[in-house]
Amino acid sequence: MKKYLVYPFLVVSLIFLLGACSEQTKETTTTSKKEEVTDTKENNAAESSEKPTAQWSYEGETGPEHWGELDPLFSACIQGNEQSPINIEFSQVKTSEKLENIEIQYKPTPFSIVNNGHTVLANAVTPSNSIVVEGKEYKLVQFHFHTPSEHQFNNQNFDMELHLVHQDATGKLAVLGVMIQEGKENEKLAPVWDVLPKVETEKDTLIKEPVNLQTLLPSDQTFFQYNGSLTTPPCTEEVKWVVFEKPIEMSKEQIQAFQQIFPDNHRPVLHLNKREINKN
Ligand SMILES: [Zn+2]
Repeated sequence: MKKYLVYPFLVVSLIFLLGACSEQTKETTTTSKKEEVTDTKENNAAESSEKPTAQWSYEGETGPEHWGELDPLFSACIQGNEQSPINIEFSQVKTSEKLENIEIQYKPTPFSIVNNGHTVLANAVTPSNSIVVEGKEYKLVQFHFHTPSEHQFNNQNFDMELHLVHQDATGKLAVLGVMIQEGKENEKLAPVWDVLPKVETEKDTLIKEPVNLQTLLPSDQTFFQYNGSLTTPPCTEEVKWVVFEKPIEMSKEQIQAFQQIFPDNHRPVLHLNKREINKN
């Protein structure tokens, strides 16, 4: 019972407090869980939209290379040294037998969909999906898309990238990234694509059918793991990234339907710096 009382609050806080990989960054503040819990004033301010916030985009003067200058809250975008996305150069990846497998516990669940002006995002309506990374459980909060892909493999982008954003009990984030390449129609995503909001929406719309994310993932679950950040302002770090090596497919029509709404909503790759990329 308690779980269900807490969860809607989590979702609401996330919507206002996370950037994004949460992408809901009209109101950007810190992502620290402590502050989420204690600073309800800030939440209210976010809700009333009175607080001025920097507008950001994917091109021109408010594009990725300027994010760090747009708002002091976005300073990590320019000053951080563990930023995402990155180019995953296969020859630099360390295969680690110690790297634990990720337990993915997804089942068909309801989602609501929104166009937040930066991406199309599906919010989890129930806390039913979770993953376990390094022994810690993270609940799925939302998933969304980028085109072209944000991560690169050996300097190559894919047509699109799916991000599944999870949060643990202390507010820390883990994001699963799945590359998408042109191929067969993806029927698992049809219920989502049927209701893609073409313009920015204020409210979520419930997707009629439950979405089964388990069947959407690549069957070969080889993944790369590294420590990174949100890929949109405020570019907050300490995000655990898990990027699947094998892509999934979507039809040309499905990809184009998204690109008609967002022709390009990707942040270019950032330096790896001293980080390691591990592979299971
Ligand atoms: Zn993302």
